[in-house]
Amino acid sequence: MSYRIIEADIKVNIVLRMIKGESTLKLAKEYNIPPKTMYTWNKKAVDVLYKIFEHNPPGPKRKLLKNLLNCVELSQNIPEETRECPNCNSTKVIKNGSYKLNSGVVKQRLRCKICLFQAVVEKKTT
Ligand SMILES: [Zn+2]
Repeated sequence: MSYRIIEADIKVNIVLRMIKGESTLKLAKEYNIPPKTMYTWNKKAVDVLYKIFEHNPPGPKRKLLKNLLNCVELSQNIPEETRECPNCNSTKVIKNGSYKLNSGVVKQRLRCKICLFQAVVEKKTT
């Protein structure tokens, strides 16, 4: 397969739709572009947005990035060793900090290294 040149406005449109929460896999089919390519654009776009706003920094720096990315509550029964990204099916999912709720439940934040998808699972308490 050879590389196609994709117009900037198509890229922008795709990234905007991804940020709005449309399924990347669905968009990949619609435009016939590999999802991995689209994740790269998304990441680039979010990085640029972050740079635009970082010179005007009231509040925590990472907040914008977090708000732009999807964050879902996953089933609490996913075994840690077989964790897969629900967005791109990559297994490069890393732990990204945990926090405790007032109820005593501990939540583990997860982040996909490929598409930056974020998720939260309930941490097993043994
Ligand atoms: Zn992913």
